[in-house]
Amino acid sequence: MNLKQKIEVSEQLGLFKSLDLIYKAVPSGTCDGCTRCCHESVNLSNVEGLNIIATYFLNQEGDVSVTKDRSDRLLRFFLREWVDAMKCPFLEGEKCSIYQARPLPCRIFGNRTEEAYAENFRRIQLQNQSVQRSLFKSEGLRLPRRVTAHKIGYCQSYVRTSTLDEEAVNALYDRLIQLDSRLYFEGGIEDLSMNAHLVGFFVDEVILEQSFEIVNRTLLDELKREMLKNINVAVK
Ligand code: SF4
Repeated sequence: MNLKQKIEVSEQLGLFKSLDLIYKAVPSGTCDGCTRCCHESVNLSNVEGLNIIATYFLNQEGDVSVTKDRSDRLLRFFLREWVDAMKCPFLEGEKCSIYQARPLPCRIFGNRTEEAYAENFRRIQLQNQSVQRSLFKSEGLRLPRRVTAHKIGYCQSYVRTSTLDEEAVNALYDRLIQLDSRLYFEGGIEDLSMNAHLVGFFVDEVILEQSFEIVNRTLLDELKREMLKNINVAVK
């Protein structure tokens, strides 16, 4: 199934409407717009990724269209994410350029209780350590500390109407998984993993699809490792 078909099937199944209901279940709050929480890339579900594309990146003919400037920014982030902690490439002029369709982690960031925030940070650290271990084992490469220890910090300025503890956060994610499952059983996705990465999703689903096989994922992964190798050589 190509990207356009995945979006059509999601619409037919009412998945974007169901997604909207999940987003509406997130308590409201007032953010001072400091954008500190946008200084990383986030994970998202497949239906969320398709919803972002359907909301912001379809042209009048209904084809997926991403400008070269945006594609360059996404690729730059993707290639440098192991060597630098960077701001989200969708942040433009201190504003989220996909705000109406931003994924769940961006919506709940300010609503988590301090305990739920700490638990999430612990999970991210474990993921980083797992990437670190596998890179070291396979290629002797180390991620720099500015990447592995990157921490945004609990938001103290967000004015919450109510908070989400770990259980409430998990319940929202369960609902996202159910939407992905429905798409999976229609053949719209091959993998039910909830660890899709916002930038990686765009690289795989949009940029590589549009690059007419001039660029492929293997080449990108090689370039990414090459950058990390240069950093590792520099610190020896
Ligand atoms: S998608 Fe938008 S809200 Fe989420 S981190 Fe990126 S810029 Fe911030």
